[in-house]
Amino acid sequence: MNLSRVLSTEILPVVDRPSRYLGTEHNAVHKQGARVRMALAFPDLYDLGLGNLGLHILYAILNRIDGVAAERVYAPAPDMERELRARGLKLFGVESRDELCDFDAIGFTLQSELTFTNILNMIDLAGLPLRTAHRAAGPIVLAGGPAVFNPEPLAPFIDAFVIGDGEQVVSEIAGVLAVHRERDARLLALSRLEGVYVPALYPMETLPDGRVVPPLDAPKIRKRTARALDGNNFPVDYIVPFTEQVHDRVSLEVLRGCTQGCRFCQAGMTTRPVRERTVDAVEELMTRTLAATGYEEVSLVSLSTCDHSRVRSLVERTSTMAKAQHVALSLPSLRLDSFSVELADMASSTRRTGLTFAPEAASPRLRAVINKWIPDDELIEMASAAYEKGWEHVKTYFMIGLPTEREEDIVAIADLCARTLAAGKRKNPRATVNTGVSTFVPKPFTPFQWARQINIQETEEKQSLLLQNIKRHKNIKFGRHKPHETFLEGLVSRADRRAGDLIEAAWRHGARFDAWGEHLDFGAWQRAIDEVGYDCDDALRERALDERLPWDHIDIHVPKAWFVADYERAMLLQHAPDCRAKKCHDCGVIDVERALCAHMLRNSIEGRKAERAWTRAPLAAVPEPLPVQRLRFRVGREGDARFLGHLEWQKAWQRALRRAGAPIAYTQGFHPHPRVDFSSALPSGEESRAEFMDARLVRRVDMEALFSSLRATAPAGFLLLGVEEVPLEAAATMGEVRGWRYELVPGLAIDEARAAAERIERATALPVTRRSKSGPIEVDVRPMVDRIAVRDDGVVELDLGTVNGKPGKAREIVELMQLPPTTRVVRTEVRFR
Ligand code: SF4
Repeated sequence: MNLSRVLSTEILPVVDRPSRYLGTEHNAVHKQGARVRMALAFPDLYDLGLGNLGLHILYAILNRIDGVAAERVYAPAPDMERELRARGLKLFGVESRDELCDFDAIGFTLQSELTFTNILNMIDLAGLPLRTAHRAAGPIVLAGGPAVFNPEPLAPFIDAFVIGDGEQVVSEIAGVLAVHRERDARLLALSRLEGVYVPALYPMETLPDGRVVPPLDAPKIRKRTARALDGNNFPVDYIVPFTEQVHDRVSLEVLRGCTQGCRFCQAGMTTRPVRERTVDAVEELMTRTLAATGYEEVSLVSLSTCDHSRVRSLVERTSTMAKAQHVALSLPSLRLDSFSVELADMASSTRRTGLTFAPEAASPRLRAVINKWIPDDELIEMASAAYEKGWEHVKTYFMIGLPTEREEDIVAIADLCARTLAAGKRKNPRATVNTGVSTFVPKPFTPFQWARQINIQETEEKQSLLLQNIKRHKNIKFGRHKPHETFLEGLVSRADRRAGDLIEAAWRHGARFDAWGEHLDFGAWQRAIDEVGYDCDDALRERALDERLPWDHIDIHVPKAWFVADYERAMLLQHAPDCRAKKCHDCGVIDVERALCAHMLRNSIEGRKAERAWTRAPLAAVPEPLPVQRLRFRVGREGDARFLGHLEWQKAWQRALRRAGAPIAYTQGFHPHPRVDFSSALPSGEESRAEFMDARLVRRVDMEALFSSLRATAPAGFLLLGVEEVPLEAAATMGEVRGWRYELVPGLAIDEARAAAERIERATALPVTRRSKSGPIEVDVRPMVDRIAVRDDGVVELDLGTVNGKPGKAREIVELMQLPPTTRVVRTEVRFR
């Protein structure tokens, strides 16, 4: 069933941020007549999910295949869930708005254990039985991604897991779905693909104490590894969101994998060996992606970007390109050394706010245990260098509850922050330190997978010990994670299939969005723990080194024996340096991926030589060029584009101008802004044919050519109605607006519409309640109604003005007239002074 009509007329007008569900973003793919339809599902809000690079990659690969269509679906916010359930509707793919039960497969990206209840919620909202055992037909439910390496807690609900990189296997899965149409045949064929795990077809053994583990002789599921990060699989036609994102930028993956060997880090172990993009490839992808999207920020992402073998050239060339295009460049994963400060310095613009480092442990002893080795002096020197270069805030992240931790290790966090701050104050009197502390959660496939996790009470005690010590120092801010979140993560991260009962019970008790402090319902989890009799102490306990583990059947190429050896090295405080810097530690990957490991080692040797010879090209400070031309575009919107908020709509036009190649002028100063102005705010829910957008340009352009390019790249529902050149010094349109003319199309009989209009005309006062910064306020909107009349075709013409700076709002008049909520509101004219 298709939900387009009900969404546009009934649901989108009443939910928060309707732009999350439009599916008409620039570069979204709308493919018709596909034989295989796959819904790529992100189990969290759109605002977080749209930036997920893995989902963009799979979306692009699948949509390039003939006969295959991929759509997206995100966890609906609570208000959307309410609207769907109230009407008995199912969750839908955002592009087609078809219900998910019409698809061949729903593929979840697993980010963290705290999204597991959202996955169950989305399966339920899709109209499928929660458990695979109860499904006889309908879409195959798949899952892959970074949190998939212990698939067992979700095994009762997921038909097939994809272990490792998805680039190749996703096409193979689409092939299986195209050939086999029956559920059982599909599952059998999927189970034969390398890297695909179908729990229902896999034998498990229940031990006498109740633990469910793979049999000793069971076949292994070997993770998939993408051979190379070639440009073909990078989604240069990145979807450009309307809704403001938690990370609103292009994520450009520069390398995958990490060989630093931090002993708590699962991603570092499961993504080996390192594969990287050449600097030329990154530069080319960045050029194409910016041209295709109009984005203003690019992030060079990886687990540790400083470990790129030619990172200086990489940062220099990308930052030069970024500056020329008024694009911000970010390096989110900085290593702990002064070299990182040098790179951040090259990448950053003139304004410096915060720089983030994650020592994770504050005492040298504990840093040796976790294999994140750096002497205290170097840490402080690095922070000093950052303050000296103009950063005022250094953010530091630590963990509590790490194996072998003692009280003095906690006190050392406050001490290290204080010494960092003192050193910083000598360089910069405005220096501050922000400290974030989270609780260690032992993860499968790490040397610490056997360690005990501390419980909520212990976390609180350690946090308050730290707080007492931090309070003694001014200018150190302390942020702590909620102990409940990491506790819940710990309940399932190393669990076996029995945890499925707990997750289901928690979901049934109302748990959703467990990673969001404002949504986390710990009471729901407590009721679930009691109901299923879940043994929380057992979930957090230390495991014996020879214990059979629920994930023993997953093969990430690093054998268990190596993790045991590294755990023992940790207990002896032995540092294992990065194999790319020193020598191979024989972690096992080389036995399977000899060519990749050899290439990685060779590349890093060559890279070190190249980096030694690198010299930085001198950078000249260039002031922003002044505008030489000002174009005034008449713009508007129709259809579902009306649901955009004013800021979303403005930003979408600015990005469209960038895609169209407009040489936009920028303001001077620390934070240059594009000199693009709009005549007035356009409220969500209103269509328009009457807005003006002024763009100042630093180079004269052919007005008609730019008009055509802009029209070609504007998102669906965006109207470009005219353009003229105006003098540079012309007054801003916003200051000249005295009101707006509207057409209201209620679809009523003409007498009804006339009676409603007369009520407004005859009224002496029309009080409404509006929201203001200081709370609700009562406003009489009658003086804002300059004219109201009903035409013979039943359309209401309405002229609104402003009174004491407060604008008339057409939707308020629709409500006062008691017109149907589905009434179209179209702004047809701006009334200038
Ligand atoms: S096998 Fe050796 S070179 Fe390859 S990732 Fe492991 S430690 Fe590094």
